[in-house]
Amino acid sequence: MGRLEGKIAVVTGGNSGIGLATAKRFIAEGAEVFITGRRQEELDNAVEAIGPGVIAVQGDVSHLDDLDRLFATVRAERGRIDILFANAGLGALAPIGAITEESFDLVFDVNVKGTLFTVQKALPLMQAGGSIILTGSTTGSMGTPAFSVYSATKAAIRNFARSWALDLRTTGIRVNVLSPGPTATPGLLNGLARSGQQDAMTAGLIAQIPIGRMGLPEETAAVALFLASDDSSFMTGSEVFVDGGMAQV
Ligand code: NAP
Repeated sequence: MGRLEGKIAVVTGGNSGIGLATAKRFIAEGAEVFITGRRQEELDNAVEAIGPGVIAVQGDVSHLDDLDRLFATVRAERGRIDILFANAGLGALAPIGAITEESFDLVFDVNVKGTLFTVQKALPLMQAGGSIILTGSTTGSMGTPAFSVYSATKAAIRNFARSWALDLRTTGIRVNVLSPGPTATPGLLNGLARSGQQDAMTAGLIAQIPIGRMGLPEETAAVALFLASDDSSFMTGSEVFVDGGMAQV
């Protein structure tokens, strides 16, 4: 029997990287999973790769109408949510002095506003025993050159979990942050390629990781499973790092 047998999960940003690996793992453990993302083609590919047990709903987490449509679909199809993985996120490299208003608005809209309203709009479908997992990052508690806006959004995520654990104290719903370090996903690898300094930046990241390599999305998914399951029943407001030691030393 799987560790999530009979559970209903929603994974935002479930068509790629950490979200895709987590959707696969949740389904392997017996859950049914709704995934969302903006790109329909990537959603179709994910549905094909995952197989039975997944339902894709296209949408942008920073558009409240899209979130309403997502959760209306979940309500109509399954009536409840046991596990919410608010994972959709993105970032752009720019040092202070070169940050544009457009880029600031995009990254805060998706990572902060998107996460907040994903959780707020999911809550009416959740009940005692529910688990909310927010995707943070090592960058939320470290300085990272040319990545201050993204890092600030992840610091905001960290506080959301602390504060929401208090807001939700009488509900039996837990909320925790899962913070990966550099993880080999399309999001990170494409970002490094776009920088034009892929080899140097990759070597620079690995040099900061005691385990000596980047993480795999499946390694983050394994910890998402722990936070989703009753194995973490006495945890709320926490941050769990899956970072090869990067932000721990
Ligand atoms: P990824 O492969 O690019 O996946 C990002 C996912 O988020 C995609 O499914 C993307 O789908 C979705 N997404 C982005 N903007 C969205 C929006 N506005 N609405 C709905 N979905 C949206 O990158 P990843 O590395 O797996 O990232 C997943 C999470 O981990 C992010 O929150 C990221 O900040 C965090 N993280 C990653 C690393 C790392 O090294 N990889 C480290 C720390 C934290 P669409 O493009 O189709 O919308």
